[in-house]
Amino acid sequence: MAERSFAKEVEQLRLGDGDTFEGEGILAVTKALLQSGVSYVGGYQGAPVSHLIDVLNDARPIMEELGVHVENCASEAGAAAMLGASINYPVRGAATWKSTVGTNVASDALSNLASAGVVGGALIVVGEDYGEGASIIQERSHAFAMKSQIWLLDPRPDHPTIVRMVEKGFELSEASQTPVMLELRIRACHVQGSFPTKTNRKGEFSGVNRLTEPVFDYAKVCLPPSTYAQEKEKIETRWPAAVNFVRENRLNEVFDGSADDVGIICQGGMYNAVIRALQQLGLADAWGETRIPIYCLNVTYPLVPDEVSGFCASKRAVLVVEEGQPAYLEDAINTVLRKADVQTRVMGKGLLPMAGEYTGAVVLAGVADFVEGAVPRGVDLRPVLEKRAVIDGHRARGQELLGEPVPTRPPSFCTGCPERPVFSAMKLAEKEVGKFHVSADIGCHTFSTLPPFNIGNTVLGYGLGLASSSGIGPNFEQRTVSMMGDGGFWHNGLTSGVANAVFQGDDGVLVIMNNGYSAATGHQAIPSSVKGGGVRTGGFQPDGQDIERALRGVGVTWIRHVRTYSVPKVISVLRSAMTEKKKGLKVIIADGECQLARQRRIKPEIRKRIADGKRSVRERFGVDEDVCTGDHSCIRLSGCPSLTVKDATDPLKDDPVAHVNNDCVGCGLCGEVSHAAVLCPSFYRTGIVSNPSRWDRFRQRFADRIIARLSVRKAA
Ligand code: SF4
Ligand code: SF4
Repeated sequence: MAERSFAKEVEQLRLGDGDTFEGEGILAVTKALLQSGVSYVGGYQGAPVSHLIDVLNDARPIMEELGVHVENCASEAGAAAMLGASINYPVRGAATWKSTVGTNVASDALSNLASAGVVGGALIVVGEDYGEGASIIQERSHAFAMKSQIWLLDPRPDHPTIVRMVEKGFELSEASQTPVMLELRIRACHVQGSFPTKTNRKGEFSGVNRLTEPVFDYAKVCLPPSTYAQEKEKIETRWPAAVNFVRENRLNEVFDGSADDVGIICQGGMYNAVIRALQQLGLADAWGETRIPIYCLNVTYPLVPDEVSGFCASKRAVLVVEEGQPAYLEDAINTVLRKADVQTRVMGKGLLPMAGEYTGAVVLAGVADFVEGAVPRGVDLRPVLEKRAVIDGHRARGQELLGEPVPTRPPSFCTGCPERPVFSAMKLAEKEVGKFHVSADIGCHTFSTLPPFNIGNTVLGYGLGLASSSGIGPNFEQRTVSMMGDGGFWHNGLTSGVANAVFQGDDGVLVIMNNGYSAATGHQAIPSSVKGGGVRTGGFQPDGQDIERALRGVGVTWIRHVRTYSVPKVISVLRSAMTEKKKGLKVIIADGECQLARQRRIKPEIRKRIADGKRSVRERFGVDEDVCTGDHSCIRLSGCPSLTVKDATDPLKDDPVAHVNNDCVGCGLCGEVSHAAVLCPSFYRTGIVSNPSRWDRFRQRFADRIIARLSVRKAA
């Protein structure tokens, strides 16, 4: 199960010569892989590249016809290690993940792969999750490319260019015997466009034409003395081969302009922001005709020194538009120019900010400042500055009209999320056993660090919640609690956290959120996922890849399952884990299917039942306005977006009362929390019955009569 259906996209994967593909950038990459003759693709889910692997998974029949092996790997390290197939054999392969977090995980395999070099083309599609919408550390994949000498493509967000870069990326990889990274920013992944397709190619060797002879070559094994020779080969042979290939195939693009005493050098991924800024300033048209020459680096590593110096030689100044820090490109361009004795002034960071996302507004400001300072030949500054003033005026006016800054809207658990009750329970448990340190992990449950919970003192990486407790745990009087999702558990938490904690004899508490999916990345299946949906709950499962079986396998003996929505039970199991006399790791498996996935699964079923005239009951919760006092402690212990406030109709009540809106999925947490915290009896549960039976109607009529009678008495 994945977050959306890819039926349309799957059909587009079959397009052949002369057809036209239309859709998202990341799906164009998927089609380009098949046109390039890949024999295998591996990946680990994560925005913004999850769709690539989801589509290939949904297109199994096409993959089988082409002999392409597709794997949802256990981690990014596993996906990178798959590329080992291309070290000895002429098979093309691709791996994909979210960067830089995924590249961190994959970097061991990447170092070895880059050192050994490849015979078949190896392409790594990294989704660069950088900027204000990112959910990860603000770093750049560029650093990994430089340290391991992996070539880095950063294509202009334009479908034909993206597709060409995939195809040329494989050729570059083979020509230079080096793996190649294709970096796609979020905007490039989701940019809409079209390109003329080619018929898919079968790989030279693949599942339908298998290899028969293994190849052994010690020069490809990463052990001394091979590694010394590999380093020399990288520098003396592979690097120059790559530079020649990039130059000869014109992978970088020059867009000429009449004001050619200045220029702009940009990462390919920043081209659209640059050309838009020039358009807004009246220095380019809607078709991309620019007055300021642009050197667009579709390959950001390695640079082609003579191309750089050739572009700059006749210019007084160039602006480098390079998103992120450190300023690798700007520094490298300065070095290239100084070595070539070209005296062009290089500007970049300073006019543009060193850190943070280069949004349209940021690039516009930087380009405008550059143009104003450099005064390009033949450009009348007056209209340029007027246009800028108009845009700045609109922005200022917008701010003025808004008055107050727009309140931030932090992410949060979905309505009815099964993970929320665990944190409600933790807040309540802390009142009994005292405050405890919580090592958080990556996943939806990281939202616990936000209000109203603010639970989770540190976040160290995916599946690393328990490992990150091993230093602080022994220094605390009280046991510490670690979080882990089921996705993180299988990613590496089982070994780096659980097995190690048992091996070391650590004494702590681990809560594993068993929601059944890799939920945060789009509901991809993980080893413990149940076919058809739901979660394995309630204890030891005799077969399948079960979390409890895995825990017992590495020596954990204290294991408890608890249904997350039963807040008193979660409190009770937390209490016993925190106060248990016996030392050793205590693991609580918190079972509750991801509500988003559950709703997507059951809503069509409910709709069908209703359409078929069958009886169907949907549970909802509500707040009795007459009882609610308006102190809102329920909201402080829940945070469900459905649990909100409204003005009281009672004129004697000053404060707004709690209110459950129509999004409620009836998970029951409100009532559980109120009960467990002994708050108030204002919550009630109701059932919305569609196609009621005769018994339902009779009961309702009866209840209505009783209520009417009581109301009359009350009024009297
Ligand atoms: S996607 Fe699922 S697990 Fe994640 S916050 Fe939403 S309901 Fe909870
Ligand atoms: S029952 Fe309460 S917590 Fe659950 S979805 Fe409805 S309002 Fe939200």
